[in-house]
Amino acid sequence: MAPLTATQPAPPHAELKSRIAAAVEAARDEIIDLSHRIHANPEPAFEEYRASAWVAEALRLHGYDVIHPAGRLTTAIRAIRHGGRGGPGPRIGILAEYDALPGLGHGCGHNTMAASGVGAALALAAIVDELPGEIVFLGTPAEERGSGKQIMLDDGLFEGLDAALLYHPCDRSHVEARALASEDVEVVFTGLQAHAASDPWKGRNALDALILLFSSVGLWRQQLRPSARVHGIIREGGTAANIIPDHTAAWFMIRSEDEGEYAVMRERFRELCEAAALATSTSVEVTFSGLARTMRNNPVLAERFRANMAAYGIEDMGDDPSAGSTDMANVSWFCPTIHPDLAIAPVGTPGHSILFRDAAAMPRADETTLLASILIAQTALDLFLDPELVAAAWAALRNS
Ligand SMILES: [Zn+2]
Repeated sequence: MAPLTATQPAPPHAELKSRIAAAVEAARDEIIDLSHRIHANPEPAFEEYRASAWVAEALRLHGYDVIHPAGRLTTAIRAIRHGGRGGPGPRIGILAEYDALPGLGHGCGHNTMAASGVGAALALAAIVDELPGEIVFLGTPAEERGSGKQIMLDDGLFEGLDAALLYHPCDRSHVEARALASEDVEVVFTGLQAHAASDPWKGRNALDALILLFSSVGLWRQQLRPSARVHGIIREGGTAANIIPDHTAAWFMIRSEDEGEYAVMRERFRELCEAAALATSTSVEVTFSGLARTMRNNPVLAERFRANMAAYGIEDMGDDPSAGSTDMANVSWFCPTIHPDLAIAPVGTPGHSILFRDAAAMPRADETTLLASILIAQTALDLFLDPELVAAAWAALRNS
């Protein structure tokens, strides 16, 4: 049972919630087809051309004024529907992600996020005559790398938003997300080529530099706090065993649950890169990008989403012991934000894996996608119909 609070829906409100659920049910095939189509055509960050085109087309079909591309990002979408009730009202953001992981596909299940965002948008469109304010759908590219939402924030596409709502798939259902501050780091070492047998002493080995860097990162880990993360892959390690490599590259990520600690880690990592270059007489370029911040879960929105979940018999399983990062956290410093997780796979299924990828197009994920559409739209409805709730969400953000 949903707890009784001052914001408990009045009967017409409950009726609108039912109409939202009915609209999602009526669009079941459309929503699931979109999820499966995106799942079968995975596109990495900044290259979500087909996914964003399909999402934009679906929104147009449901009466939205669609801007695509929106801002600098070719695959970003901003779509609007004005409430038909007139008068002042909030501007509620329904968000959707659709990028996949290179070499893995939809191992984070963002296909279900794209489809549920569209599902929520079409459900709200079905009751738009009863709503004040404005529904703002934001298709947000590049979550897995690059923090596309920060670019969209900088482009002013979140301007005036009173709330940002986004569901994420998981192996458990819980409303409040922990997110680590995180950045991508490209590291490039430049040395000097030489024949690896006849005159290796003439070379400067850029692969040695890279191996040193991985070794020092491994040693560094012992001194890091348990929540800190640093992990990377080698992008280029040389071209042939008989050439001293003059060019190597790695892609790292650094993360921490504390933004202050993160800033210290960032500088330490740069020093490790410089030390590896110094030790091998190579030079190094270190490029940080795509900062994702720590998450400020809005307790007022979380309480509403939790109550809407409870009405469907889903309990909040509480804090997730594992935490990744998300650019939704950047949004959470700008306006009231939630990023609830709903289960699409058995507890213990690792994220960013083949198992999770395959789960993201299974019947359980399809049902969760429909439910997420309903719960996001119902939480938006709570905000549209209750100015005090919007004010309370803003107060919670300002006072936290
Ligand atoms: Zn994700």
